[in-house]
Amino acid sequence: MQPIMQAHAVTKVYKTGAVEVQALRGIDMSLNAGELVVLLGASGSGKSTLLNILGALDTPTSGAVQFKDHELGAMSEAQLTNFRREHVGFVFQFYNLVPALTARENVALVTEIAQNPMRPEEALERVGLGHRMHHFPAELSGGEQQRVAIARAIAKRPELLLCDEPTGALDSATGVTVLEALVEVNRDLGAATVLITHNAAIRQIAHRVIHMADGQIAREEVIANPVPPSEVSW
Ligand code: ADP
Ligand code: MG
Repeated sequence: MQPIMQAHAVTKVYKTGAVEVQALRGIDMSLNAGELVVLLGASGSGKSTLLNILGALDTPTSGAVQFKDHELGAMSEAQLTNFRREHVGFVFQFYNLVPALTARENVALVTEIAQNPMRPEEALERVGLGHRMHHFPAELSGGEQQRVAIARAIAKRPELLLCDEPTGALDSATGVTVLEALVEVNRDLGAATVLITHNAAIRQIAHRVIHMADGQIAREEVIANPVPPSEVSW
């Protein structure tokens, strides 16, 4: 497998007034094309900070991040915007859908500016929402709204899919439908997928687990036989 993203000695220090928080303390990691990695760790261990840096939503204090042959630190703002727009799909805990737009229109917001997108209809079908296309967010359940957010993230055919606690606001039965959608798009579209959770049971669905503690990678774990989300014991 080819690494598509690499982090070398990445640190992040947040300064709030006189207070410094060392959020990342030297992260070395790589992400292979097509793999599904779970980033697992307690609240405050630096998971979101790392994800945001991989997706170029934030910059490291020191260290380097590479996407294929490109050093993110050497890119201009315009190049970073383009990197995010073309190559990265984001899914967050809260769905950030536009309430006045239907599911299809929410996805179309992204496909209209991407270079080689799939049709919004196809993206929604891939997450099992073909029949909910013309519904507004308020007419959808939490799990369905999150699947619209996933459709929006994958419609641009990203090489990288970054998901920050996508099931964090959902009950476990609904969470399963969201994880199933993620596993399926990872398998069918081959986007390298990073999935943040603090629920250790979810790690069973991944190819690899990166355990984070106190801003560092405590250990990595390869999952020889990933389990379908519906069979995860919660
Ligand atoms: P996790 O996602 O694992 O819960 P985070 O990456 O959000 O952890 O946070 C790691 C540490 O950095 C925490 O101590 C958190 O309080 C701190 N932190 C995160 N974002 C900021 C910020 N914007 N300003 C100051 N401190 C922050
Ligand atoms: Mg977080």
